[in-house]
Amino acid sequence: MFRLFKKKINTEHCPICEYNINECQCLFGGNCHPDRSKRIAVVTDHLYLFSKEQVQHVLKLQKYWCISYDDDEKNNILNEFMDKNKR
Ligand SMILES: [Zn+2]
Repeated sequence: MFRLFKKKINTEHCPICEYNINECQCLFGGNCHPDRSKRIAVVTDHLYLFSKEQVQHVLKLQKYWCISYDDDEKNNILNEFMDKNKR
C-alpha cells in the first residue's frame, strides 16, 4: 500500500538500529531489544562516518538516553557539562 508523506521522505538509516530514521527503534530500546551498547559506543566514537542527518538523529537519541557511566570520573565530567548546560 502507498503511504503519502507530507514531509520529505527521509531515506537515511539510523546507524544504531539500522531502521529508517523515521522508524528508528532506539527510543523504545530496553529489554525486548538486543543490547546495543557496543554499537552505540562505536557510532558515537566515529560520528564522522555518518551523514549530517544521521548525526543529528544520534544527537537526538543521546538527549533521550541520558547515558551515565560506571566510572565516577566520567560521571563527574558529565555532571560538570550538564551544570554548565543548565545555566
Ligand atoms: Zn535507531
